[in-house]
Amino acid sequence: MRDVIEGITAQLDRVPLSRFAPSPTGYLHLGHLVNAICTWGITHALGGKVILRLEDHDRGRCRPEYEAAILEDLEWLGLLPDIGTVEAFRAGATRYRQRDNAAAYDSALAQLMATDHVYGCDCSRKTILARAPQTNDELCYDGFCRDRALPAEVPHGTRMWLPSKPIHFDDAWRGPQTQTPAEQCGDILLRDRHGNWTYHFAVTVDDLDQGVNLVIRGEDLLASTGRQILLSERLGRVDPPVYLHHPLITDPAGRKLSKRDFDKALRDYRAEGASPEEVLTLAAQQAGLIEAGRRIDVGELPGIFA
Ligand SMILES: [Zn+2]
Repeated sequence: MRDVIEGITAQLDRVPLSRFAPSPTGYLHLGHLVNAICTWGITHALGGKVILRLEDHDRGRCRPEYEAAILEDLEWLGLLPDIGTVEAFRAGATRYRQRDNAAAYDSALAQLMATDHVYGCDCSRKTILARAPQTNDELCYDGFCRDRALPAEVPHGTRMWLPSKPIHFDDAWRGPQTQTPAEQCGDILLRDRHGNWTYHFAVTVDDLDQGVNLVIRGEDLLASTGRQILLSERLGRVDPPVYLHHPLITDPAGRKLSKRDFDKALRDYRAEGASPEEVLTLAAQQAGLIEAGRRIDVGELPGIFA
């Protein structure tokens, strides 16, 4: 794993600041734990700090009981954040909980509105699909509302015009990448028709606002990186974070961990009597981070990557 560390230090000349950023829409499972192992292990191997951020931008799907469970699970595992501590979340409002960070998103949106890059959109998924057949894996917006001068506020969605240029970045796990967001997803949604900030907008503002310079996440989010780099450029960021997209746990058929058949909560293992070491070891082995037979505890995470 030493080349991963070298890949980061070659691009980052400062103390790493990374984040573990689950959404309180459910309980933590082994997939989250693989991400936590990589985030704590790699960041601490480099002498950096980990922020805990709770991504509850989608207010309709988040529940306070899931937030409480995430904090409790992290404490049980011994995965204590350096910034955005468990105590700070329990004490009340904190900038590391997206629901409490509206001022940062309002201010970033005002900055973008002052340019000609933002516009209102009243299209639904259905109307976008009806206008143009889709060839990508994800929905690609066709720019239909760019010149319609709709107000960029509820009940309209708010979109940002994207230039058709390729974005290059060197993923610390997967090597050089090129993505053209204008062809993947089209103009990106910053806020939906109901007033919810979108994932891409909220995390890009947070990463800039909180000084995050190392983003460690699963490879299912690889495709979203180019558009987040573009958005961060528009927000004035000159040095985007270093990105690392690690492998996901797969089931024996090679499929990604799914909600239905592979999503056993960490607290279920705990209820069955498993120790934190056993659950950490299971996650690390299933993701191929450690060899069979090796056991790890939380203090040994940096050693996996050093
Ligand atoms: Zn539209």
